[in-house]
Amino acid sequence: MPDMRAALNTDNAVYKTLLESTRAIPWKIDWASKTFAYIGPQIEPLLGWSPESWVSVDDWVQRMHPDDREQVVNFCVSQSQAGVDHEADYRALTKDNGYVWIRDVVHVVRRDDGEVDCLIGFMFDISERKQTEEKLLSLQKELEALSFKDGLTGIANRRKFDAALDTEWASAQRTGLPLALIMLDIDFFKQYNDCYGHILGDECLTRVAQTLQHAAGRPRDIVARFGGEEFVILLPEADEAAALQVAEHCQRLIAGLGIAHEKPGGKPALTVSIGLGSVTPLQGMSARAFIEAVDRLLYRAKQQGRDRIECAQLAVAGRADPAWSAASPRQPG
Ligand code: GH3
Ligand code: MG
Ligand code: MG
Repeated sequence: MPDMRAALNTDNAVYKTLLESTRAIPWKIDWASKTFAYIGPQIEPLLGWSPESWVSVDDWVQRMHPDDREQVVNFCVSQSQAGVDHEADYRALTKDNGYVWIRDVVHVVRRDDGEVDCLIGFMFDISERKQTEEKLLSLQKELEALSFKDGLTGIANRRKFDAALDTEWASAQRTGLPLALIMLDIDFFKQYNDCYGHILGDECLTRVAQTLQHAAGRPRDIVARFGGEEFVILLPEADEAAALQVAEHCQRLIAGLGIAHEKPGGKPALTVSIGLGSVTPLQGMSARAFIEAVDRLLYRAKQQGRDRIECAQLAVAGRADPAWSAASPRQPG
């Protein structure tokens, strides 16, 4: 039937033209010999390797980024053995030693007896999509970092502090180690603004924030702007004595800035009042009550004349909302 054969030949030519003129790169692998029976000519403009150079599956394996190789090859081999169609993304090596992101979409062809006969599939160039994905991911990371940063001073914000306190509170409950919190409030800051203006007020806040950042040196310590002209320093695994050293260091560093501030009584320089508490949290106690207790110490420092530290090892009852008492009030300096 010559007409039929001619028609078939024409069809094959049409299919071949169609396959080789799309952006997707067709290929076929004979399963028994693990060799390429075919790969579309589009592979050469994309990766630089000629179609003839794709001989065995090993060529495919070797032309894969080493970081992707093991996982992708294991996945594809196990899916193929199980006769399951699958997809895999990986970086393919180019002839000039670059990499192109490829998505391989694989169909497993089985014989009548159920054994795998061959794999056929398409390779798609997905480098543009990957670039967009990577850009989005880095933007997302940047945004996440920004969402934990105070816009004015550049140090951690209240949100970061709240998250860190939750984590450290739970950790201290597990380990039974103490946790310390320092709250600092700039003295007579309203008058600073009134006297020097808000722009200089902002500069002053930034300088204080950056200075405090240097006072707490351990990796898990968190220095944050609590709000307005108030700052907090969270010191995991620190007792009262260790935290007091940090607080006194903060006082010295701020005095060292020598920021002029004419205010009622005391030195004509910018000072801070500090509340400091340490606690070993028990199960059922709330971090919020801890903050409130330290805030009361700060309030006391203000009442006692400002420019001072009020500290206490907070005696805690095993209740959720204890009326925490300052067990060992002290007023250094
Ligand atoms: P005290 O010693 O009792 O703490 O007195 P204070 O004046 O520092 O406290 P008060 O709470 O009365 O005023 C805080 C001031 O902090 C008022 C507000 O204008 C100023 N402030 C808060 N946030 C900012 C800010 O972002 N920039 C500037 N420049 N000022 C701020
Ligand atoms: Mg205040
Ligand atoms: Mg103040």
